[in-house]
Amino acid sequence: DNPIARKPDWIRVKAPNHPVYHETRKLMRDNKLVTVCEEASCPNIGECWSQRHATMMIMGEICTRACSFCNVTTGLPNALDADEPTRVADAVAKLGLRHVVITSVDRDDLADGGAKHFAQVIAAIRTASPETTIEVLTPDFLRKRGALEIVVAARPDVFNHNIETVPRLYTTIRPGARYYQSVRLLDRVKQLDPSIFTKSGLMLGLGEEKAELSQVMDDFRIADIDFITMGQYLQPTVKHAAVARFVTPDEFADYAAMARAKGFLQVAATPLTRSSYHADADFAALRAA
Ligand code: SF4
Ligand code: SF4
Repeated sequence: DNPIARKPDWIRVKAPNHPVYHETRKLMRDNKLVTVCEEASCPNIGECWSQRHATMMIMGEICTRACSFCNVTTGLPNALDADEPTRVADAVAKLGLRHVVITSVDRDDLADGGAKHFAQVIAAIRTASPETTIEVLTPDFLRKRGALEIVVAARPDVFNHNIETVPRLYTTIRPGARYYQSVRLLDRVKQLDPSIFTKSGLMLGLGEEKAELSQVMDDFRIADIDFITMGQYLQPTVKHAAVARFVTPDEFADYAAMARAKGFLQVAATPLTRSSYHADADFAALRAA
């Protein structure tokens, strides 16, 4: 028994009805692309898609992991689609994106965890849209030696990998992942190529304490992580982890101030913040600064 908690009124979501929303949806269908916006039932889809911001999820709709907060189906995924990089690049060009976020399911079944496919998608976007900045939001490549290096060598502008929650909650929320492996992954990106911005994010409201968040932020800074995002966790279905509590907008503002004081280059922390929410505008502002 795990009823979905009633959302407070600061979690307001507009119904998607803008004409551009439907254009974005059609383009995703026509190019046979999967989006995390839909798979994760993201509350911002109406707003983002009305501005043509869609975050594409590559390597299929089936994930080899089973994180208890995530709505993506778990199972044995299909073979990689060699044509997908071209279709993603075509969609990015048609949407006219100045910044794109590409994510994926976890592919523990592949020897390289899907790293080469990520690299091919980055290369295809670069060719079709040389002005577009590229952010990848990757799996942890746990036990995939050499995988990270392949993605870094493809030179995304931003390398994002979400820590999701504080280490104490990993066994229930993110089984199959290792907190320090995820932090080290981002540390290693920076060591391999300091010109790539690194980014990570957490969902709040899963039972984490303020002191634990402060520790995570310190770990991030030691690993030289540039950007941090924090948003309210929302329970996708009754089968998923319950919301421990709704963090108030004022508390989010406090956490944002704490993160800024610790020296992150960019901080996004509001109840509806998601890893890819406003990523384009935030990155443009940073480059202009
Ligand atoms: Fe998609 Fe990210 Fe916007 Fe959510 S916040 S709709 S996942 S682009
Ligand atoms: Fe969802 Fe990613 Fe966990 Fe897979 S690895 S279940 S896609 S959060």
